Amino acid sequence: MMKKIQMVDLQTQYAKIQPKVDKAVLNVFSSAAFINGPEVQSFQTELEEYLGVKHVIPCANGTDALQIAMMGLDLQQGDEVITADFTFAATVEVIALLKLTPVLVDVEADSFNMDIEALKKAITPKTKAIVPVHLFGQCANMEAILEVAKAHDLYVIEDTAQAIGADYTFADGTKKKAGTIGNVGTTSFFPSKNLGCYGDGGAIFTNDDDLAHTLRGMVNHGMYKRYYHDVVGVNSRLDSVQAAVLRIKLPYLNEYCDARRKAAEYYNAGFAASDKIITPITSDFTTHVFHQYTLRIVDGDRNALHQHLLDNGIPNAIYYPVPLHAQKAYADERYNEDDFKVTNHLIETVISLPMHTELEKEQQDFIIQTVLDFLG
Ligand SMILES: *Cc1c(COP(=O)(O)O)cnc(C)c1O
Repeated sequence: MMKKIQMVDLQTQYAKIQPKVDKAVLNVFSSAAFINGPEVQSFQTELEEYLGVKHVIPCANGTDALQIAMMGLDLQQGDEVITADFTFAATVEVIALLKLTPVLVDVEADSFNMDIEALKKAITPKTKAIVPVHLFGQCANMEAILEVAKAHDLYVIEDTAQAIGADYTFADGTKKKAGTIGNVGTTSFFPSKNLGCYGDGGAIFTNDDDLAHTLRGMVNHGMYKRYYHDVVGVNSRLDSVQAAVLRIKLPYLNEYCDARRKAAEYYNAGFAASDKIITPITSDFTTHVFHQYTLRIVDGDRNALHQHLLDNGIPNAIYYPVPLHAQKAYADERYNEDDFKVTNHLIETVISLPMHTELEKEQQDFIIQTVLDFLG
């Protein structure tokens, strides 16, 4: 019998590494080094090596990572920070929380990432930073974004929560890992992310020594020396238990990304003949690690398809159903609907299918057939 289809199958993934994970976690329990123990230190070093970045600063979750990165850059109230309209709310949430001014811009229909012309148009004398989100697992056009940032003296903060492990290739052939390209990058180890722990976790990346020093104090109450508080900080730490899990999983990250890519290719081939579906593209400057596999339904009732799949035991999701500029918390009279044509269209047409490291061909065949049968 076909295994029950899940949006993300973390149980099967765990079963394959269970003895290692259990041992690592129990070691933390018996060592009682729960906070900032050696596991955290080792994970930090191993992730620095994997990413080819000078500094990894572990923290409690991906949202904190974004907030602390912005705190470390010393942005001031009223500074404008540009990010994409089509993303998870965490990105814009921390901008607003820090009393900075979020400026949302439209995305590209095919890559779902920040539109460079929209970015250029949104820049004002108050703009201080750009936050590209590498949505669904592939990098935004970083070369173009860095060029804009340089021309206007702006910081670049990469939200890499969905794209850890992706490789970016510059026009001159230089390769860098997602999150290590701008001034600072952030990620999340939320369980369903490509490198997920077994609870909450996050990290900040940077090649800037001074910024790294600032950030390391900020995650720990602004302390650079115990009980001396030089700056206002937060309490945002990666648990030793989560670090122990992540140390087991990090060596599998490339394998996990490959498994996702393979599943995506299989879906792509299955849907290729349909003229009602646009399958996800991979921009030529980036690899895609398929945090999500997201179709656009161009001729058909997306909402009815969503329900039909659920009725047939196929979980699926609409990422994202509401553009950020239209969310109650982030609406602003400055925004003009004409500036969000693509996002406004995407929210009506996208649908994300089950995507994880453990998908079986039999499951994918059933999903593909059910989608094709419905769209006719
Ligand atoms: C998951 C996610 C976050 C937040 O990560 P948490 O660890 O859940 O706080 C931020 N940005 C994006 C794009 C995400 O997908």
